[in-house]
Parts: sequence; structure tokens; C-alpha cells
Amino acid sequence: MVLFDVYPLYDITPVSARGVILTDDKGQEYLDLYGGHAVISIGHGHPHYVKRLKDQLDKIGFYSNAVQNPLQRELAEKLGALSNCDDYHLFLCNSGAEANENALKLASFHTGKSRVIAFKNSFHGRTSAAVATTDNPAINAPINKQQQVTFLPFEDRDTLAEELSKGDVCAVILETIQGVGGLDEPSLLFCKEVAHLCKQNGVVLIADEVQSGFGRSGKFFAFQHHDITPDIISIAKGMGNGFPVGGILIHPEIKAKYGLLGTTFGGNHLACAATLAVLEVLEKENLIANTADLGLYFEKCARQIPQLKRVKGKGLMLGLEFDFEVAELRKNLILKHHIFTGSAKNKKVLRILPALNINRAHLDTFFTALKQELE
Ligand code: PLP
Repeated sequence: MVLFDVYPLYDITPVSARGVILTDDKGQEYLDLYGGHAVISIGHGHPHYVKRLKDQLDKIGFYSNAVQNPLQRELAEKLGALSNCDDYHLFLCNSGAEANENALKLASFHTGKSRVIAFKNSFHGRTSAAVATTDNPAINAPINKQQQVTFLPFEDRDTLAEELSKGDVCAVILETIQGVGGLDEPSLLFCKEVAHLCKQNGVVLIADEVQSGFGRSGKFFAFQHHDITPDIISIAKGMGNGFPVGGILIHPEIKAKYGLLGTTFGGNHLACAATLAVLEVLEKENLIANTADLGLYFEKCARQIPQLKRVKGKGLMLGLEFDFEVAELRKNLILKHHIFTGSAKNKKVLRILPALNINRAHLDTFFTALKQELE
């Protein structure tokens, strides 16, 4: 059997990784400023993370959700406390797409409606709200024909109000910092209007924090920069530092009942141990404050680059926008300077999504290489 060929691959084979350094099969080291799409939050092979997973595997790795798993309660408590979302309820699953599917399903059950509003250039995974960021038709069309999705631009309050007033919308799903799209952000005022209009029309507001959550923006959740209260918050990526885990935080106004949601693997012992390890490291090493601080340092360094059009994003969820397409630049950073960065659907944006315990020296290395490439 061969692999279904859906990913263009760099000819690089990482075989080990520590902190923000990847080593390939030829012994070449790479500086990882991408974290495998914002997944590596506390660094590769963090000793506390490795130990917690090994210890857990020695005891029990998995059993069904039909029995007690005290790690799930421990995780819910810790996550509630660190994110300042104590009063929400936690449902665990395995990925970002699954988190958003559950969020949309729940919104639909809660309201008895099915249409979804998403925003142009957003990305919510390969879900029924798979979004029109690209020219790729495969990810433009809703998978489930019943779940119609309407895409609106940011800042158009009147059209949003008109759509919500039609009475058939179950949810508005929003990234307050767009990840895959290219780091665009709605204004503070628009976010508040979205939240207000949702409340007024009985529509569920879903904050998609799959990429921006777990401290990446310099606050635990990116929506917390905007002082809004979502009804559902979806999480994944950095949550497990590479262990596949996702979830939704659900406002207590949305009531649980048996059978409403379900999953085989979600919330298994290993996934809980991985997520608890991430939360413990975030707290103990003060990584959210480090993220906010390094984000400002990054911005300061970036402003010294004359070819740069704009620095986008917050914390360590960053984009550098140029007035040319960055594919070649990104390739040179990887192949010549051995630095991993990311691309976006906006082809002029270079994405920077390192582990949150990176330091200034790592960013200096990046800027030295970037300047050489732009000379
Ligand atoms: N939501 C956002 C904001 C994302 O950036 C992504 C993935 O990039 C997803 C959802 C989908 O997550 P996953 O790839 O884990 O299904």
C-alpha cells in the first residue's frame, strides 16, 4: 500500500526534537518557529510532559467514557481556573475539526436551527463550516448539505444583523485572530457587536480557539482581548503539545443531557495527562506572560525591516505581511537557514507560531536570517 498523496512534502525527515530544535536523519538541526501548525506549545519533549505521559501509560492509557475517569475532572478544574472560564462545562474530543463539529451540532440542538454564519477567510477545519479561504473547491463546500454556511466579511455589522434577524441561524463561529487565513483580526467594536447581535437573536456564539487558545495570543484565549463571552469555545492544537486532543467549553446556559454528544477516544487517560502536563507547564513556567512579552519583542524587531508591509497577530500567533508572495522566502528559510516557518492562505503572509517557551535569542536568529534573505 502507498500513502494517499494529499500533502506536498519537504524532503526533510525529523527524527528527534527538543525544545524548539528539530534534528533530521542526517543530524541537521532546525529552529522550529512553526510548531507543526501551532501545535507545539511547551516545546518538543518537555521533560514534565514526557514523564507525565510515560507514568500515565504505565498505569492506564485508555478506557471507555462509560466509567469514571478522574483525570477528566482534574483537567476541567485546572483548565477552568487557568483560563478564567470556571463556570463553563468541558466536553473532550480529539481534534479541532471535531471540536467545531460538536460546537455546531450543539448550537443546532440548542436553538432548533441549522444555518451557520462564519467570516470570510476564516478556517474551522474540514467541517461543515469548512470555509472559503481558498480556490480549492474541496474545502469550500459544506460537507453536510443541510448545514448551510453563510460567509460574511468582518466589520459589516448591518449585513450580520440582517442575516441574524431571518431567524434560521443557530451559530456564529468566529476566530478573533484568523490562523490559516493569514492573521486578520476583527476590531474590538465589531467583536462586541457580534456578541451583542448573537445574544439579541438567540444565536450561539462559538469562539474558535483551536489555534489561538492555550496562551498563544498572550492571553489564555484570544477572545479575552475583546471582552466578549462566547457560548461555546473550541480548543485543540496547543492543548496537547502534539498529543491529539480537542474539546469544547460550553456555557452553563446550554444544558447537557445523556446522549447529546459522544465519542470513543475523547478524554482518554493519555489525552488528559498530556493536556494537564501542558497546563502545568504553562502555569509553572509563566509561559503566557513570556508569550505576550516575546510578541512585543518580535514586533519591535520586525519594524526594523523596511521590506515589511505589516506585522500581524498577537503574542506568538504572528504573521509578517510583505508585498510579494512568500513561498520562495519560506523555502529558503528552511533549506538555507534551517528555520521552519509557516504559510497562510494569504500568500503574502509568513506565519510564525513557535513554542511559547522560546526566547529572544531564537527570534534574533530568525531576524538575522530573514534580513539576509531580503537583502
Ligand atoms: N479551527 C482552526 C482555527 C484551525 O486553525 C484549525 C486547523 O488549522 C482547525 C479548526 C482544525 O483543526 P484540526 O486540524 O485539528 O482538525
